[in-house]
Amino acid sequence: MIYFWFILGLVVGSFLNVCIYRLPREESIIWPSSHCPRCGKDLRPLDLIPLISFFLLRGRCRSCGEKISPRYPLVELLTGCGFVGVFILSGGEFVPLIFQSVFLSALIVIFFVDLEHSVIPDSASYLGILAGLLYNFLFGWPVFLSALGGALLGYLILYLISLAGRLYYKKDVLGDGDLYLAVVLGAWLGWGGVLAAIFLSYLLAALVLLTLLLSGRVKFGQYVPFGPALAAGGLITLFFGPQLIGFYLEKFWL
Ligand SMILES: [Zn+2]
Repeated sequence: MIYFWFILGLVVGSFLNVCIYRLPREESIIWPSSHCPRCGKDLRPLDLIPLISFFLLRGRCRSCGEKISPRYPLVELLTGCGFVGVFILSGGEFVPLIFQSVFLSALIVIFFVDLEHSVIPDSASYLGILAGLLYNFLFGWPVFLSALGGALLGYLILYLISLAGRLYYKKDVLGDGDLYLAVVLGAWLGWGGVLAAIFLSYLLAALVLLTLLLSGRVKFGQYVPFGPALAAGGLITLFFGPQLIGFYLEKFWL
């Protein structure tokens, strides 16, 4: 069953690639069928096998030889491995398995779209918020209230940070999309989880920014999207949240 879930993850990853390409361009994700963005030729079934086609084609379009971004096999592999992680996390239980796979998929799409286009598609956020609240509703009122609280808390924290940024730097340090993404994280992870996720995001963002600044890849004061850090923080919290929160409390509070 876990192997099946891995293969399904690869296939879903292939679909997520379509979403990552089309959502920021406001194109339909179901029509038309997949084609090369340069020559427009439809991809043949043999070109659509996740992971394998990229290597068979040696990373180039069969018709025009246009280079295919390594993001395609990367997203497929990432989703496949993520699905395996979710399978282990949920113990193979059907409802958590399905919902957490949706959550993982939404975060992967948001991560890559924001990385490339500095925008978070509202449709992915809305789906994420609704699915998260619905999922936690299935576990009764205390869990649901934690999810509602987490959604509000996530929004509030990033709103305050963005307000502080506007007062202090006189410019936007966060986009509206980041605020909605924090709501998504809260709706899934509850109020404790969203705190952990935001904390982790800033830790990750600081590490990555420092590396980019030191290596001269970005300049000081340049706008860098925060969504990828939030999405990554959310994913780490999904998989390791309870352990991380436990570790933190033990080290610093108890
Ligand atoms: Zn082509």
